[in-house]
Amino acid sequence: FAVEDIRNFSIIAHVDHGKSTLADRLLELTGTIDKTKNNKQVLDKLQVERERGITVKAQTASLFYNFEGKEYLLNLIDTPGHVDFSYEVSRSLSACQGVLLVVDANEGIQAQTVANFFLAFEAQLSVIPVINKIDLKNADPERVEKQIEKVFDIPSDDCIKISAKLGTNVEYVLQAVIERIPPPKVHRRNPLRALVFDSTFDQYRGVIANVALFDGMVSRGDKIVSAHTQKTYEVNEVGVLNPSEQPTLKLYAGQVGYLIAGMKDVTEAQIGDTLYSHKHPVEPLPGFKSAKPMVFAGMYPIDQSEYNNLKSAIEKLTLNDSSVSVHRDSSLALGAGWRLGFLGLLHMEVFNQRLEQEYNTSVILTTPTVPYKAVLSSAKLIKEYREKEITIINPAQFPDKSKVAEYLEPVVLGTIITPDEYTGKIMALCQTRRAVQKHLMFIDQNRVMLKYLFPLNEIVVDFYDSLKSLSSGYASFDYEDAGYQTAELIKMDILLNGNIVEELVTVVHKDKAYAVGKTICERLKDSLPRQLFEIAIQAAIGSKIIARETVKAYRKNVLAKCYGGDITRKMKLLKRQTEGKKKLRKIGNIEVPKDTFIKVLKTQ
Ligand code: GDP
Ligand code: MG
Repeated sequence: FAVEDIRNFSIIAHVDHGKSTLADRLLELTGTIDKTKNNKQVLDKLQVERERGITVKAQTASLFYNFEGKEYLLNLIDTPGHVDFSYEVSRSLSACQGVLLVVDANEGIQAQTVANFFLAFEAQLSVIPVINKIDLKNADPERVEKQIEKVFDIPSDDCIKISAKLGTNVEYVLQAVIERIPPPKVHRRNPLRALVFDSTFDQYRGVIANVALFDGMVSRGDKIVSAHTQKTYEVNEVGVLNPSEQPTLKLYAGQVGYLIAGMKDVTEAQIGDTLYSHKHPVEPLPGFKSAKPMVFAGMYPIDQSEYNNLKSAIEKLTLNDSSVSVHRDSSLALGAGWRLGFLGLLHMEVFNQRLEQEYNTSVILTTPTVPYKAVLSSAKLIKEYREKEITIINPAQFPDKSKVAEYLEPVVLGTIITPDEYTGKIMALCQTRRAVQKHLMFIDQNRVMLKYLFPLNEIVVDFYDSLKSLSSGYASFDYEDAGYQTAELIKMDILLNGNIVEELVTVVHKDKAYAVGKTICERLKDSLPRQLFEIAIQAAIGSKIIARETVKAYRKNVLAKCYGGDITRKMKLLKRQTEGKKKLRKIGNIEVPKDTFIKVLKTQ
């Protein structure tokens, strides 16, 4: 294929607006997959993607299309729409010259539509607006056209109205891809310059890197160098994704495909890396911002004997998802485990679900926290810690105020799109989350777009659920990283009869200390078994008690439950009690079962 006959494009949209379905139709229309089969989101290969109906990993496919007597090569990169995976979107976009921006004809522009549009706009790509689901009874494509004009400044005439489900007008989408998206700007005569935009790990073949060639060509047997690691590799295989891998003799500039070169793990094929010929070193392409974990949680095996199993499962899974950060950690109550960093809550849930489904493990996941920072107060401390700012991903390591000039917390810029009738309630909700309003705009007569600056920790756990239930499911939400801001953070201890429980140390904003302390005390009260003496549960900041609950004394006699007779039942009860004891942790003279910790620490 000549460069002029190649188009590289991506499909972006709010979740469920029909990206994957449109991709299916495009694959059929170009004969890449059979039309007769019942094709449903064929690019969603992972089990969790099929179950949740969401795309987690971007997938690539090369399509061949004959238009007005000319054969074109169209490289389609399907992307996930959820905010947690927006790094996948930006990564895909760097290999493209244009995007299809899919908007549901019934729902209209939603929060992720806006976020994704701006990613494409900033990358200076051609944007083709596609209004999907025109077959729906409540579809109102004209209204959506006007929204697109108002919010994105794209003339409404540019919109293509389709039904991806029925296949209506999908051929116009392919035509627009050819006519409105420019071919890649590349130079085939120059030495090789290839961008690694994704990589996966295959047990038998090692790392499979997805590459976009900006200059030159590459074929089997070539010696290539990674700009990132400076290691040299021999290329074993190159090919296109069709959408399954199909080896070819060469890959040329302008093409998107895959490459296998004996790299042993995905860290050797860093996303954003440039590959070049060992004979002709080149200036590396601008890389990506690496994915930054925003949500941290402790992960422990339910039973310590499962530790090694879980360890190897986490290792294998992170081979394919380099955006998860892994630190070893241990807890007196829960044993040896890890502190894992994720891009967001959905990412954390998906990772957990994959561990369970693909590796058959079961784990305890603790309440997620965000990475706080502390700016150290003296030159002496800076020398001791070897840095001026320390990042705290584990509340137990929160440095004392005497050492700190100021604490910082991560903030995000959130976009909310809602029917106007819910605006008041949503503004009130944002207020309780310490959010600052930045922008308010009507996108049509009865829909509002709000922008707020949120402290990240105020939205990680249940903001989205609250927003959805306030708005009967109609409001949508997305956010982007907005750096750090000064915050009055404090460390809160939980005490049982005056003894600090190390695993329950929490970092909170001063305005939230009372509410959080109260919740933890209540949860403890509900799950801590009564003992022979009274137990005082307290939340404290330094020496100041801010919340308190009491567990009354109880005369422990498990046999009292059985009314005489049944001896086997008594034996069983006794056995169960001794087993349970093994899992107790003593705090002072109080016996706390592991189960209590799980109930208090676990995600709601
Ligand atoms: P994605 O999250 O953007 O990839 O969306 P999917 O392609 O997974 O589609 C989400 C849901 O919308 C699925 O249930 C599809 O069957 C449905 N859907 C997609 N396109 C259409 C369409 O044109 N008409 C109708 N009625 N439903 C559609
Ligand atoms: Mg999808």
